[in-house]
Amino acid sequence: QNYQSVALIIGVTGIVGNSLAEILPLADTPGGPWKVYGVARRPRPSWNLDHPVEYIQCDISNSEETQSRLALLTDVTHVFYVTWANRPTELENCEINGKMFQNVVDVIIPSCPNLSHICLQTGRKHYHGPFEVFGKVAHDPPHHEGLPRLPVPNFYYTLEDILFEEVKKKEGLTWSVHRPGLIFGFSPYSLMNVVGSLCVYAAICKHEGLPLRFPGAKSAWDGYSDCSDADLIAEHQIWASVDPNAKNEAFDVSNGDVFKWKHLWEVLANEFEVEAEEFDERKRWRLEEMMKDKGQIWDEIVKENGLVESKLEEIGGWWFVDIVLSGECPLDSMNKSKEHGFLGFRNTKKAFISWIYKVKAYKIVP
Ligand code: NAD
Repeated sequence: QNYQSVALIIGVTGIVGNSLAEILPLADTPGGPWKVYGVARRPRPSWNLDHPVEYIQCDISNSEETQSRLALLTDVTHVFYVTWANRPTELENCEINGKMFQNVVDVIIPSCPNLSHICLQTGRKHYHGPFEVFGKVAHDPPHHEGLPRLPVPNFYYTLEDILFEEVKKKEGLTWSVHRPGLIFGFSPYSLMNVVGSLCVYAAICKHEGLPLRFPGAKSAWDGYSDCSDADLIAEHQIWASVDPNAKNEAFDVSNGDVFKWKHLWEVLANEFEVEAEEFDERKRWRLEEMMKDKGQIWDEIVKENGLVESKLEEIGGWWFVDIVLSGECPLDSMNKSKEHGFLGFRNTKKAFISWIYKVKAYKIVP
């Protein structure tokens, strides 16, 4: 087959990587037909096998390995960088994430003569700072792309700076930066997967006959939140890859509606046939604490229901859910994307249900 574009997805088993792997190869995807390479650190999981992608197992934090595995690719036209590593401090995050991204561009830019665009995914922490300074330095929401950087270390800034330097090395090479908020999507390997984690929590409640109790703050329960659908983010990145109006710009990317967790909580309870407990602000508790001893119960659930093998500590990102639900959600704005021609959106409630179906359909939860 003759391909018009050749994608390299770095982080192909991640929450957006998996959506890109599904959408890019479709016959009607803009810029196509696309040939797709996908890189991830671990062997290819069963739930990623359906996507017509050439899978490359490679640890991009290792310079030699990245050099030897990725130098073989000479036809890449577009890079989709949708990965990260999490370290205890932001300075360490800057170092490791900078190194990973640098390793990739060091190989791909010189070895791919037709490389034309790099999509870099960062996130809304661009505007409110890394987890360690949450609530201390944030810009006043709604956030928008015109806001200046915050005066604190942030690995998103490190990645952008590398990107801006690297594109200068090749005539005509363009870039885009994509800044989602909380991502709703599918990936049992994601470090931050709120829908998958909540499905696992609900399945445990069902198994133990417990009501579904909300592990968060009142401001998260009945305040407005928004999120970014993983398929929508993939569409946004593909748009930026092919549309001249989107070149060399950073964009927020979110669903374009708002929701309240108290409404999604009912949906989650319904989907798992458990009772949603009435919210009581005085009963604050942390999911991470509650899930500490549930590993064995999860192993039983997996066995009894013939689910895909998983370890509770890997598929339950409890620390992340605790952070997300700990307070008000800072909203962003899709104005710039719309002004540049991207009109995509998602109905969050419908999308939430469809991601739950997907987690069930792939037998990650019963
Ligand atoms: P993810 O955790 O879902 O997936 C990461 C992918 O990269 C996986 O395929 C993993 O196997 C792969 N990977 C990890 N380390 C690797 C290595 N050393 N070598 C090769 N592959 C490796 O990723 P994500 O959540 O999409 O994160 C991408 C960016 O999006 C990050 O900057 C993150 O902060 C940002 N973001 C995420 C969310 C969210 O809710 N998940 C929200 C906003 C912003």
